[in-house]
Amino acid sequence: MHIDGYSTKLRQLGLVPTIQRVAVLEMLEDNHSHPTAGEVYEGVKDQFPSIARATVYNTLDALKKAGTIRELTIAREAVRYDYDPSFHPHFLCRVCGDLIDVDPPCTIRQGDEVLGHTVESVQIYLYGVCSQCQKGG
Ligand SMILES: [Zn+2]
Ligand SMILES: [Zn+2]
Repeated sequence: MHIDGYSTKLRQLGLVPTIQRVAVLEMLEDNHSHPTAGEVYEGVKDQFPSIARATVYNTLDALKKAGTIRELTIAREAVRYDYDPSFHPHFLCRVCGDLIDVDPPCTIRQGDEVLGHTVESVQIYLYGVCSQCQKGG
């Protein structure tokens, strides 16, 4: 996406399109590996050496609250960030730590009723060994 696209997107979310926010959005879109906050910081720092860690963390928080990125608590060690906030299950490899988008059949969606209970959020976290690591990596 062009820089103007990110600025427009931020404005639509009610956020002032600062250069740092644009950089964080861009980094996440270029990086579908579901990076941790620390990895986002490292990525953005390459472009903006003077950026503060707190700025990056606050930006991730603002983007999350605006609903344009999703926070994944799949790993105990660190929260991971997903550029795609729409529902999709995730697979975490315990060997290499890769976090992969997967699409197993799940018929339960937000807003569904389950035994009389209303579902407001669905998170599916699968854990195991990825296909690469099974090959002996
Ligand atoms: Zn793996
Ligand atoms: Zn994902």
